[in-house]
Amino acid sequence: MYIKKIEFMNFKSFGKKVKIPFFDDFTTISGPNGSGKSNIIDGILFVLGLSSSRTLRAEKLTDLIYNGEKSKNPDNAQVTIYFDNKDRELPVDNDEVVISRKVRSTDNGYYSYFYFNGKSVSLGDVHNYLAKARVTPEGYNVVMQGDVTRIITMTAGERRKIIDEIAGVAEFDNKKERALNE
Ligand code: ATP
Ligand code: MG
Repeated sequence: MYIKKIEFMNFKSFGKKVKIPFFDDFTTISGPNGSGKSNIIDGILFVLGLSSSRTLRAEKLTDLIYNGEKSKNPDNAQVTIYFDNKDRELPVDNDEVVISRKVRSTDNGYYSYFYFNGKSVSLGDVHNYLAKARVTPEGYNVVMQGDVTRIITMTAGERRKIIDEIAGVAEFDNKKERALNE
């Protein structure tokens, strides 16, 4: 499974529809400071709901909506990730899986919506699907700036926890603990 394409709509600095293609092996993104490279990573964390333990570099979800217009700013932002799923790492019978998230700002607060192949789903559903492909919020599928230094300076016990996450053991430890508490 790999990301084929990401589509941004009014997300952070992407004030119009922007499509970014990815390759199946290696993609690098380069550009001047402030051009939006990190905003692309923020977009990935946003759609996949991986932001709980990492920062999206925004105080509130509505800060993710493009606010660069002087007159009228959009009231919603949407990011869509197109996965190649030919290897069926995600447990659905589709060569392509599309996960999308939208945040909408209203006078009564904000709303957040997740879609899995066009179907409205919950954050928990997205997490459950992704966990099958070993993509988890606690995992190291996304390595943020500073993570490497933190891992080097950790104690052996803390580092062991990371290996458990990567090996997929921690997921079962968590499930076991939850089951025992019920
Ligand atoms: P660097 O090389 O310094 O790491 P970068 O390419 O990673 O830069 P980003 O941090 O992705 O840059 O982008 C920062 C830009 O995004 C800033 O110019 C900031 O004003 C803009 N930005 C962030 N949130 C919004 C928003 N809601 N609306 C419009 N622009 C935004
Ligand atoms: Mg950056």
